[in-house]
Amino acid sequence: MHAVCVYCGSSRGQIPAHGAAASALGAELALRGMTLIYGGGGVGLMRELADSALRAGARVVGVIPRLLLEREAGHSALRELHVVESMHERKRMMADFADGFIALPGGLGTLEELFEVWTWRQLGYHNKPLGLLNVDGYFDTLLDFLAQGHEQGLMRADALGALIVDRDPARLLSRMAAAQPLQDDPWWTMRERV
Ligand code: AMP
Repeated sequence: MHAVCVYCGSSRGQIPAHGAAASALGAELALRGMTLIYGGGGVGLMRELADSALRAGARVVGVIPRLLLEREAGHSALRELHVVESMHERKRMMADFADGFIALPGGLGTLEELFEVWTWRQLGYHNKPLGLLNVDGYFDTLLDFLAQGHEQGLMRADALGALIVDRDPARLLSRMAAAQPLQDDPWWTMRERV
């Protein structure tokens, strides 16, 4: 993996561990010589992530729709900020640039982006690794809900198992780089390991 697309909150939230995890992931990407692809915002967890990656010397590429430049405060320190005309163009460009995807704590936008690339993978549009940084159990109830969907026969275990869940940024990246998908593991045992 050379370039990792990270989705996270445009808000900062109230849990300091979320900001710390965003910073830790940014620094870890730099340490590994990886490029960060993200939404180009200069606010919230997105900003913490990008600032930390930049500080540590990573190449950071932002992609932001023109309409959101103001609302999401297009990051002024970025040397590579692509301003596009639509949200669709943004998501397509971010996905094309990336060799893998990670979601951090965030809101509806973050969830929508995660589920989009996850369902694209389920449908076979790509085979790139997907990671979830489950900081302080933020996603636990979502994972429970998904497990329930599987138990009720509405979600496939192989599709769910493609998501690599970890609470540690470095370990998450290593597992993604080693392409350790969990297709063979039941979804519920995977949750116990995060
Ligand atoms: P949030 O997680 O809601 O704070 O949003 C994080 C990022 O997701 C922001 O840069 C949003 O612009 C972006 N995003 C992507 N798709 C959507 C969508 N359908 N609705 C809202 N935000 C979105």
